[in-house]
Amino acid sequence: MFKRILIANRGEIALRVQRTCRELGIETVAVYSEPDRSALHVRNADAAVCIGPGAALESYLVIDKIIDAAKRTGAEAIHPGYGFLSENPRFVDAAEAAGIAFIGPPAAAMRAIGDKVSARRLMEEAGVSVVPGANDIDPADAKTARREAQRIGFPLLVKASAGGGGRGIRLVSRVEDLESAMRASGSEAASTFGDATIFLEKYVSPARHVEVQVMADAHGNARAFGERECSIQRRNQKLVEEAPSVAVSPALREQLCAAAVAAAQSCGYRNAGTVEFLVDRDGSFYFLEVNARLQVEHPVTELVYGVDLVALQLAVAAGEPLPELTAPLEPRGWAIECRINGEDPYANFIPAFGLVEHVQPPMGPGVRFDSMLFDGLDVPVFYDSLLGKLIVWAETRDLAVRRMRRALRDLVVAGVVTNVPFHLALLDHPSFQSGDFHTGWLEADFRMPLLPEEDPRERHALIAAAIAASLVGAADGRGPLPTVGRWQRAARSRAVGMRVGRGGARGWRRGIASS
Ligand code: ADP
Ligand code: ADP
Ligand code: MG
Repeated sequence: MFKRILIANRGEIALRVQRTCRELGIETVAVYSEPDRSALHVRNADAAVCIGPGAALESYLVIDKIIDAAKRTGAEAIHPGYGFLSENPRFVDAAEAAGIAFIGPPAAAMRAIGDKVSARRLMEEAGVSVVPGANDIDPADAKTARREAQRIGFPLLVKASAGGGGRGIRLVSRVEDLESAMRASGSEAASTFGDATIFLEKYVSPARHVEVQVMADAHGNARAFGERECSIQRRNQKLVEEAPSVAVSPALREQLCAAAVAAAQSCGYRNAGTVEFLVDRDGSFYFLEVNARLQVEHPVTELVYGVDLVALQLAVAAGEPLPELTAPLEPRGWAIECRINGEDPYANFIPAFGLVEHVQPPMGPGVRFDSMLFDGLDVPVFYDSLLGKLIVWAETRDLAVRRMRRALRDLVVAGVVTNVPFHLALLDHPSFQSGDFHTGWLEADFRMPLLPEEDPRERHALIAAAIAASLVGAADGRGPLPTVGRWQRAARSRAVGMRVGRGGARGWRRGIASS
């Protein structure tokens, strides 16, 4: 096993990888951009290297800086996390050229399935059913594109071959709109991914997004760890994931897992990967894409299969075979994940940044909170809005929903707006509770309830708390609260073991308002 690895990422996923490394006695090297200087992944690491300014293009996406950091700190391997360079085969090549192991698939496998068009071709050859579509679309040849579109039928999607994170996808309902959608998708893909290749896919609706976790070693073993249900999406981005899926019977699970393993074997895949499918109402399923990395929502699989996927990634990258199975892999109980994003659910989910004054993670049976949050974190504007993931496990789906509701209510994030009210409203929705939803459901049928009327007692409590907080500020000779700096406030709250900032006022308010 490795003695020391570099984690080429930030945020909750860097912390997630560090936890397993600490359990296994592996030292970690963090890389960080200037605004991430005080981030937890830097503090937790055995060594840390600054790789540049906030913009990812000048730090987390610069291959040479990361390889150089690994060489200088004696890291034997690199874990890429997700996003950033995790699916970039040139990064894999660069690590290998420097004699550093890459904790992920070989570059060749990544190239083979990394873009959606070549992955579709490979799957067709491997006998896995793909969404009906047209792979060879020349944006300059409108006549052929129209003919192909008529053959597929409307509505259809124009998709970017290099796309990811829901980008470069356009829904087309009428032939008249085809050309403009092709232009829009192509230019978004060119500017975001540096590749304007587009293709057409039949729009499968209503459908569920169901994906299969696979893990393959260097000894020819490939194994599937069941499915995740990821149909709760906004703008083609996942918000809530669960394992297993209410729509997947044991027989369908077997078929999906077999298809996912075939997909992995078709390209000599190694390490952790996810094969995404669309499942329609009658249980037919179609291959969507492969994500050649650890997925954001991997914890729900870990909880129902009792595995540590990062530990398996490390073992497989170090050349060990997958452990022998003593019994068939079966999901146990139910797990749900809510992505806790810094965004305002009452204002069309616009991103929210700023100073996290206070965090209180939920605790108790069956609760896991993977997050980058801490008191005093200044959420940088440079990266995505994912602050953390709240994951629960329980014996049944119904109990998991109840547990998630309890845990969301226990979670306190003061100072930065989060989407927790959205999750609470979703959990209360009858369609979510009965499992009756599809990828288009959230945007078509779910409405955020109006902001609750303010309780007048809250206002009184706020005024009382403001006076109290200002007295605390005056008592220690530093004057009233507003003139106290962020660092002073953080140091002081640590010294007195309580919250004296605005978070403290809120804690007070909660106490008063509920009494
Ligand atoms: P998952 O499929 O694991 O749910 P997401 O689509 O939510 O993954 O993306 C995972 C992470 O990777 C997010 O931080 C997202 O911003 C980032 N990401 C996704 N696709 C790309 C891409 N093509 N380039 C850069 N970052 C990406
Ligand atoms: P990305 O790389 O951005 O994750 P995907 O191809 O995985 O792109 O698609 C993202 C989401 O868009 C899917 O989870 C699904 O909700 C929707 N989607 C993609 N392709 C189709 C399709 N052919 N029919 C219906 N919905 C689709
Ligand atoms: Mg996808």
